[in-house]
Amino acid sequence: MNAPAALDTQTIRDLRADFPGLVTRDGAPWHYLDTAATAQKPRQVIDAMARALGEDYATVHRGVYSRSAEMTLAYEGARRTIATFLGGREDEIVFTRGATEAINLVMNSWGRANLKPGDRILLSQLEHHSNIVPWQMVAEATGAEIDVCPLTVDHQIDLDAAEVMLTDRHKLVAFCHVSNVLGSVLDAPRAAALTHRVGAKLLLDGCQSAPHMSVDVTTFNCDFYVFSAHKLYGPTGIGALWARSEILDAMPAWEGGGSMIDRVTFEKTTYAPAPQRFEAGTPAITEAVAFAAAADYVTEIGTARIHETEAALVARLRRELGAMNDVTLFGPADSAGIVSFAIDGIHPHDLGTILDEANVAIRAGHHCAQPLMDYLGVPATARASFGVYSTDADVDALLEGIARTRRIFGRE
Ligand code: PMP
Repeated sequence: MNAPAALDTQTIRDLRADFPGLVTRDGAPWHYLDTAATAQKPRQVIDAMARALGEDYATVHRGVYSRSAEMTLAYEGARRTIATFLGGREDEIVFTRGATEAINLVMNSWGRANLKPGDRILLSQLEHHSNIVPWQMVAEATGAEIDVCPLTVDHQIDLDAAEVMLTDRHKLVAFCHVSNVLGSVLDAPRAAALTHRVGAKLLLDGCQSAPHMSVDVTTFNCDFYVFSAHKLYGPTGIGALWARSEILDAMPAWEGGGSMIDRVTFEKTTYAPAPQRFEAGTPAITEAVAFAAAADYVTEIGTARIHETEAALVARLRRELGAMNDVTLFGPADSAGIVSFAIDGIHPHDLGTILDEANVAIRAGHHCAQPLMDYLGVPATARASFGVYSTDADVDALLEGIARTRRIFGRE
């Protein structure tokens, strides 16, 4: 077989066995279809975090004793791992609390320093609230204005429309790389070319792309890329901002405190270079170590296998749901591991509650994308999202649960 090395070792291993969270308290299989909200954690990540919290634990960056020096190496090694995972340089990686904080960092630092009245920011109709609200805040503070790029008929960001909308007054384009509701994948290099043509910067919200595809910020040619560890099989409380070094170097400090300074006096404080300038306070040490373990885990499995597995599950679920005449499917056929749908006359919350009785976990709601719900003309969708551990048995359980829900609602 002509497969990558990572695939050979993994095909014989049951990945589900790596994830202690995938069984119910009674020991039954748990059909977890909410990975887009947060992914379950493999043993490798849990063990790495437990070691960092236990026998390896110490602070970083200031201890003169050897345990602290070792932990500093592990923390900075984690930065290197994440840089490699993204195809960037380690001095371009800032650890943040997650994607939300990373966007707020760019907004507060780069945004306040670079935006002025009359400038424009281009967002899209499908953005997560965390890639809308910070830009509204900075627009209000600076006098910049926001434009919204529409979607194509199959719910992708319409880059032809973006091309027409973009002007030299645009300073920033902030687009979701993969929609958390629809799974639509942005053509990042084209978005970058359009953005750079008018002299603007491109921020990619990579929360849902990092777990599903090979990430390479050089190929994407973006200026900022943000994502959260917990969606990549890592812990909560940590994520990363990658920013092109010449941009990051020029960005002013955001939060002040320990670790981000060069020298403090009451007369004047000077700041550390990036990325330390953006990491005030004691960092999320154990989370960083576990974040790196998660990136290693995904790298070991290989994005080829992840894509192959998830694409097959998406295709099957879309085919089966598409054959039901009371189901509306949202998003494109080639969505990245995410299927959003609505069943006529059955609220997604009711569906989610009935599915839970059969140990099937889906997400029902607006998915922190209310402007997208308004555009789709629904208050909420039901969303099934897949991860490395998802199997046909999960899809079977979901379909059986949908049939049962129909029976409960008196519809055969
Ligand atoms: N963007 C997208 C596309 C997301 O899916 C999420 C998480 N639902 C976020 C941003 C925010 O991530 P976090 O809550 O981890 O900061």
